[in-house]
Amino acid sequence: MDYDTYGSGAVELAIDLANADLDPSGGLETFLTAHTEWFAEGTSFALSASDAGKAAATARLVRAVALADSQDAVLDRLNELLALARPRPYATAHDGELHLHYARPDSPALEQLTTTVAMGLSQVVVQHGWQRLGVCSAEGCDDVYVDTSRNASRRYCSNTCASRSTVAAYRARQKT
Ligand SMILES: [Zn+2]
Ligand SMILES: [Zn+2]
Repeated sequence: MDYDTYGSGAVELAIDLANADLDPSGGLETFLTAHTEWFAEGTSFALSASDAGKAAATARLVRAVALADSQDAVLDRLNELLALARPRPYATAHDGELHLHYARPDSPALEQLTTTVAMGLSQVVVQHGWQRLGVCSAEGCDDVYVDTSRNASRRYCSNTCASRSTVAAYRARQKT
């Protein structure tokens, strides 16, 4: 996906978090380890049970924003998420590309996670509209996505779900 026009690649972290399996036995640590790009070098990913619970609550808030079906509801939930953020942006080129990080590099993993997720999601909503976030329409899938299509027409989290649904609809028509 091309996030250049979306203000922030950090929205990807938010979407991934909402879709992650954060089971209590190390699910969060696995998630963090797979997303080291958004954390300062040396950040410890061994979170307390209480912090892991807060991370799961953040994930639920991201999902709630995507599920909201009016601008007012999106803003309510987005502001609830932003209230958890402790932004202190800084510019970096750690991967060779100039970009912004949103959390203090010396803050704990939970603070970096919540701040980056809240800021990334907010950037997309305020710059491109609340309809840009959605939940997959495919049967048996409830993954959250950000719609980067030109005309904001996306309904599925992935091409896999889109083609699976097309096939299912075709079969349903054949039967009737
Ligand atoms: Zn970075
Ligand atoms: Zn899907």
